[in-house]
Amino acid sequence: MAGLSATLDSSRRKPLILPILGENLMSKSTHFGFETVPEEDKAKRVAGVFTSVAGKYDVMNDLMSAGLHRIWKRFAVGVSGVRAGQRVLDVAGGSADLSRLFLKEVGSSGQVVLTDINNAMLRVGRDRLLDAGSTTPVAQCDAEHLPFPDDHFDCVSIAFGLRNVTHKDIALREMHRVLKPGGRVIVLEFSKVAKPLERAYDFYSFKLLPKMGKLIAEDADSYRYLAESIRMHPGQEELKRIMEDAGLERVEYFNMTGGIVAVHRGYKL
Ligand code: SAM
Repeated sequence: MAGLSATLDSSRRKPLILPILGENLMSKSTHFGFETVPEEDKAKRVAGVFTSVAGKYDVMNDLMSAGLHRIWKRFAVGVSGVRAGQRVLDVAGGSADLSRLFLKEVGSSGQVVLTDINNAMLRVGRDRLLDAGSTTPVAQCDAEHLPFPDDHFDCVSIAFGLRNVTHKDIALREMHRVLKPGGRVIVLEFSKVAKPLERAYDFYSFKLLPKMGKLIAEDADSYRYLAESIRMHPGQEELKRIMEDAGLERVEYFNMTGGIVAVHRGYKL
């Protein structure tokens, strides 16, 4: 950068080299909540959020959603149509809520693999699975680089994880790659709320949520990020298009609680 500013400070009126240099040095940017950050910083910032909230994650989920997240997750697993004997990958699985529900569906002849990029979240998930008597395989990995072979799983899920991923398109292509033909991707995520609910939802998200975060998890910023990241996440139709662009077919979505949350399902055919 010193070289750059020296060029800027020079008396030349037309810094001919500068635009070319600038272009090469500039990294792409993305969103971290309402902030614009260099792409390479987002994963670190997201890691900071989830490392900070991991210990209080489950209790905050119950409080923030008044227990509704349990119903949303059950619905998502229902929509997946997963049956006994099938193989499921839970991406960004965190404290393993979906993994535990899927385990009931696949039974002893099937398999669920829990993954997450964040060690603190994964530990919570792994311990909960062990406490429930399950020795489900657990892997720490980025949704954008899944360490699994092609055509391997009957179902790949990501619940409340996709909006935190830097390149959603890459993650969805990876999820498509590891799916068997006939398999489906399930995305459970916050979405665009119905118009009449908007004002109340904004008040709740931007005024109450950070206060609850401060009180319970001693961390208002992470819950402010939650509210902001929800607003920056693509709505129902846009996410459907992104999934189709990633190669998924027959993509449809199901709104829940006035569109606060939606489940998208797409197939690899
Ligand atoms: N799926 C769980 C649930 O529904 O309760 C956890 C959801 S939590 C809101 C989001 C999770 O996404 C965190 O555990 C976080 O570590 C994980 N995550 C964020 N970015 C990720 C990435 N690039 N790859 C994999 N996991 C990621």
